[in-house]
Amino acid sequence: MQKAMTHVFAPYSVKSYHRTHRALVTGGAGFLGSHLCDRLVESGQQVICLDNFSTGRHRNVEHLIGRPNFSLVNHDVVDPLLVDVDEIYNLACPASPTAYAADPIHTTKTSVLGALNLLQLATDRNCKILQASTSEIYGDPLVNPQPESYWGHVDPTGPRACYDEGKRCAEALFFDFARRHGTRIKVARIFNTYGPRMRGDDGRVTSNLIIEALRGADMTVYGDGTQTRSFCYVDDTVEGLIRLMATPDGIEGPVNIGNPDERTIGDFALVVRALTGSRSDIVHRPLPVDDPRRRRPDIALARQLLGWEPTVPLEEGLARMIDYFREEIVREPSVREAVA
Ligand code: NAD
Ligand code: UDP
Repeated sequence: MQKAMTHVFAPYSVKSYHRTHRALVTGGAGFLGSHLCDRLVESGQQVICLDNFSTGRHRNVEHLIGRPNFSLVNHDVVDPLLVDVDEIYNLACPASPTAYAADPIHTTKTSVLGALNLLQLATDRNCKILQASTSEIYGDPLVNPQPESYWGHVDPTGPRACYDEGKRCAEALFFDFARRHGTRIKVARIFNTYGPRMRGDDGRVTSNLIIEALRGADMTVYGDGTQTRSFCYVDDTVEGLIRLMATPDGIEGPVNIGNPDERTIGDFALVVRALTGSRSDIVHRPLPVDDPRRRRPDIALARQLLGWEPTVPLEEGLARMIDYFREEIVREPSVREAVA
């Protein structure tokens, strides 16, 4: 059943008494979205953070509540909405394989209907819209590193398809809206990003291994650990998204945003263990179905168009994330229990 359209009313800046630039961040209470909200609020923009709190948390943005240029809206992007904004960052979608597979049909609806609703809004308002797309567009890639020109190698019926194909369909919608309606689109293909505010029970490898190491539990590597990923610190990813949004109309992407520092998961586990000072054993579990064998972004286009490249080395970013989880383990019983 179609729900009634939500009208979102956000206050104008009390401080300046005139209309400031307004950004809508969907999925703004999630890991990446909350860091993006921080940056936009600090820059003085009026920020509307919209979330259905499925994987996001109120406490990721609670420090922003009360700021005159920040407002929080509980809404599911599957349902249409009306809001007066100048820019839309569409980040609403669970990103962890555990989270997106928990309700795969709603994951697809979030990507596809969410994109449709927000593209319609952007078209009606003639505002810019940025899609948080993903390296999963490339599936289990047959070329490495992956340039944006690579069409990908995706299993359309497997357990990851709700996410991969949902995001691929969203990209198709973005480009069709641009061609048909002149919608002002930007598409970022984000590669594995990590940092503080990932949930303890998120299920992704960075948070899982750090918590296991801090608890002194066995650290679980899926498969033989020779599969690779390239990890980008959250501040770098957010900077890339903001720079892409700031590009002139006509620069649409897709643009890879990620760190080309490719590591095997086995080596990554050793780095985490060394940085935490843990004496955990590293154990192996079966590789999940359709788990990509390797992943590394080609970021030549981001360098050229955005003058962007990652600045935080893996060991430095991981040290910050480990500090965060040390505190979380004391503060949150659920983190102590996570990955038990
Ligand atoms: P996250 O799960 O922490 O954040 C997603 C946010 O979207 C959560 O706050 C969640 O409650 C919200 N959400 C989910 N479905 C929604 C819906 N139907 N309506 C409204 N809100 C909804 O994940 P994240 O890592 O912060 O990822 C954010 C975005 O970036 C996602 O779109 C993801 O696909 C994309 N991305 C992330 C990574 C990464 O490594 N973190 C990589 C590639 C792409
Ligand atoms: N992985 C792992 N241990 C874990 C969680 C994940 O070895 O506790 C592996 C997973 O099989 C994959 C890689 O780490 O090969 C990255 O997984 P993640 O879920 O973080 O992201 P994605 O697969 O979406 O890149």
